[in-house]
Amino acid sequence: MQTTRRGFLAAGAALAAAAGARGVAQAAPAGGKRFYKGQFHTHTYWSDGSAFPEQAIQFYRETGYNFLGLSDHNVYAEGRRVKKVGKGKGRVNQDIFDAYRRAFPASAQSETAADGTVEAVVQTYAKMREIFEKPGEFLLLDAVEGTTRTYDDDGVEHQVHMNYLNVPGVPEHFRNCGTKATVAQRIRDSFKAVEAMAKEMGRESMFILNHPIWRWYDVNPEDLIANPEVRFFELCNGGSPYRPGEGLPTDGFATDRFWDVVNAFRARNGQPLLYGVGNDDTHSYFGTVGHVPGIHCLPYNAWSLVRADALTAEALIRAMNAGDFAVCEGVQPEDFSFDPASGTLSVSVAGKKNLCRTIQFIVTKRDFSEKPVRTVSIEPPDAPADKQKIYARKVNVYDTKKIGCVAKAVSGGIGEAVSASYTLATDDLYVRARIISPERPAASAFQHPKVQVAWTQPYVRA
Ligand SMILES: [Zn+2]
Ligand SMILES: [Zn+2]
Repeated sequence: MQTTRRGFLAAGAALAAAAGARGVAQAAPAGGKRFYKGQFHTHTYWSDGSAFPEQAIQFYRETGYNFLGLSDHNVYAEGRRVKKVGKGKGRVNQDIFDAYRRAFPASAQSETAADGTVEAVVQTYAKMREIFEKPGEFLLLDAVEGTTRTYDDDGVEHQVHMNYLNVPGVPEHFRNCGTKATVAQRIRDSFKAVEAMAKEMGRESMFILNHPIWRWYDVNPEDLIANPEVRFFELCNGGSPYRPGEGLPTDGFATDRFWDVVNAFRARNGQPLLYGVGNDDTHSYFGTVGHVPGIHCLPYNAWSLVRADALTAEALIRAMNAGDFAVCEGVQPEDFSFDPASGTLSVSVAGKKNLCRTIQFIVTKRDFSEKPVRTVSIEPPDAPADKQKIYARKVNVYDTKKIGCVAKAVSGGIGEAVSASYTLATDDLYVRARIISPERPAASAFQHPKVQVAWTQPYVRA
């Protein structure tokens, strides 16, 4: 959704209406559990997002989200932070500041310097909790986007970004890790740094490898095969292309493919599978007002639907470690369950007028080959000349007939609900499901799928 100039409050309201129209799953209780909707990756004026924290949170809370992480780059929102208001990079947009003061007179604070410059105070997480949290209804999760870059031996730049949750602080590692490490090593060191800080704080943490294919392919599947302790990655990210660039082969480049390659190896090795999450990586909340050039990410692109017994960080993390959640970028499952004894995954989705919805079951075969079928050198077709080198990538493509193949698909009639199940065959390593609804996503970021999709996690037999 693109808007310009003044009508940005209207744009915000329209986005909210579009997202709210999708509804939130409140149903499907199972053993005192219910679904909670939320996401872990948004930016504010604490770093390069174009909104005050109150504005960002209000966007989500008012459209039925139950939990949210404000995850600014290498900063946890505490202490004093002021930002100059006015035109220019790194400043608070005047229109957004005015809207903020009108909407949040109790928390908006600013100071005027001797030269007339207005500086706005960006409020802390602690303050946000006071204003917005409501037990059982809305939870703020401590979140930070650990943001690093590294250069490989060919001088190719890789940005490695990782969100961590429920750890209110930033390990020194993220400020001081330099630019010399392989991507796999950078992920490992970052994971360890977060784990150490979580342990020191007595917290249960969650670590997510973000937007692996942002800028073409910053992280390869092999980097997560080499780091089996990393349990989560961004299957959907509003800010990075779901599939990078037209004209590139999709068998190696969609995050769906990335996911199956990692899990093929993990399942064969008996390691815990990698789970996908859905995030927006929101930077722009008001259309193009205050928009950071080159960053398009809007709210409501993708979310996680977690089945937990309470709306607490610990309960959500517990449920997600157990794989009891789905990723949605429009359509949502009505219910899903996996019986580890029989190896049966069951999924259902409600009907929608004039649409035929489909449930696909995706498996990887036990006898897949660990050898790539080919290696592709990507020279991004639309990268600027001076960026060709940093965007260049080499990516291994694996056999799509054995890894991540559709084993069964069930479509409903027009307007009909669909329920389907699949039992793991002896030559399947794991199964996951994907729901496809042939309708345009309500708030689609660039290069997201043209249809609405929801994903379950992958499951293995007990
Ligand atoms: Zn990032
Ligand atoms: Zn981000």
